[in-house]
Amino acid sequence: MIDTVKEILKKSNNIVFLTGLGTIVECGGRDLWDSDIFYGIENKYKMCPEQLLSAGEYSSRKERFYNFYKNEVISYLPKPDETYTIIKNIEDEGRLKSVVSFNIFGLEKLAGIENVIEVAGSVYNNYCPQCNKTFDVDYLLKSRAIPVCNECKKALRPNIRLLGERVDNDLYTQAAIACSSADAIVIMGADLGSSKIQFVTGHYKGSALILLAYEEHYGDKYADYVFYGSIKDNLKAITS
Ligand SMILES: [Zn+2]
Repeated sequence: MIDTVKEILKKSNNIVFLTGLGTIVECGGRDLWDSDIFYGIENKYKMCPEQLLSAGEYSSRKERFYNFYKNEVISYLPKPDETYTIIKNIEDEGRLKSVVSFNIFGLEKLAGIENVIEVAGSVYNNYCPQCNKTFDVDYLLKSRAIPVCNECKKALRPNIRLLGERVDNDLYTQAAIACSSADAIVIMGADLGSSKIQFVTGHYKGSALILLAYEEHYGDKYADYVFYGSIKDNLKAITS
C-alpha cells in the first residue's frame, strides 16, 4: 500500500493536508482530551477543558478563563517537527494547495508554510476588541491575571474559536473548496468521522483520501488509505 500511495503523491500537484490534534502531540504539545490530562484538569479546576475554554467562561469569568488558558494551554506550546518540514518542502515544490489546520498552535506558520487555513484560529493572534491592536502570546503569558490592552485597558481576546461560538463559515468554505479540487488529501491526526472534517472533505470526488492516525476511529472507513502509528514516520514513508 505504501508504494501505491507514494506513487499517487508523487504525481499530485494539488495536495491538501489536514492537521489535527495528533500532530500537536508529536510536536511536544498536550492533548487536553487525553484521559490523564483531562482528569488532572477536572480535579484541579473542578470543570472539564470544554467548559474552561468556552465562550461563556470567557465572557463572564475572565479571570478563571485566563488562569486556565495561561497555565494549561499557552504554557505548553508545541514546536513544528519533521512533519511540517515535509509539508513545507512540498509547498516549495509548488505542489501544496493548502494546509487546513484544526489546531490552534500555529505550527504551520511557525514552519514557514504560507498557504494555511486556520479554521480554529491561532494562539499567536491576540487582539484588543476595542482598538484591534494585536498582541503576541508572550504578552499574555507575562501579564498578571487578565491581560489587557496597554492602550485602552480592555481585556484581550485570543483569536481562537471557543466552545459555544459559531464556526467561521468563510474559513470552512475556503477549506472545503480547496479540498474539492485537490488531487490528494492527507489527513493527519484527526477523526474523519467528525462533522467538521466531513464538511471540509465532503465535496472531494477523488480517490486519494489518505489518513495517518495513531489509533483506529469509527470514521476511518471513509478514507481510501489508512496508515496507523507515528504520523511523522508514516508521512516520511509515503513522501520519500
Ligand atoms: Zn485597545
